Amino acid sequence: MEAVDQFETLDRLPAVCPRCETAFEPIQPDADPTALSETGWVCPRCGWSIVTTFVPPLLADQGDYDIIVPQTANPSADLLKTVAKHLAVGLLEAKRTISENDVRLFSGSALDAYRLRDELRRHGVDHTISPEFPY
Ligand SMILES: [Zn+2]
Repeated sequence: MEAVDQFETLDRLPAVCPRCETAFEPIQPDADPTALSETGWVCPRCGWSIVTTFVPPLLADQGDYDIIVPQTANPSADLLKTVAKHLAVGLLEAKRTISENDVRLFSGSALDAYRLRDELRRHGVDHTISPEFPY
């Protein structure tokens, strides 16, 4: 098994196996955007392969993201619990805060934003992410 450092290199590979000249088959990276996986080519006949680590765009993203929960006069219990947990305050304080202003729940990496967005969706908590979150 031969390692290839740069993913771009894979684009310039010959279409056939250098050992037995059988057409390569691509190795598809995992669909999980939060984990590294392998990608590359493998020969279906002799098994000769070139693989490299596939870094999902989410993990390669060096940007910071904010997750904002909009102000509301009638927060749900799930929303209050979520705000209280992430601001590390009590439920009463959470209710006062969210009824007065939009609340920035989170500021940080794309991966952490992705995980928190999952949590918010599970609890049906309305939110926005800025800048635009393409995942
Ligand atoms: Zn081969």
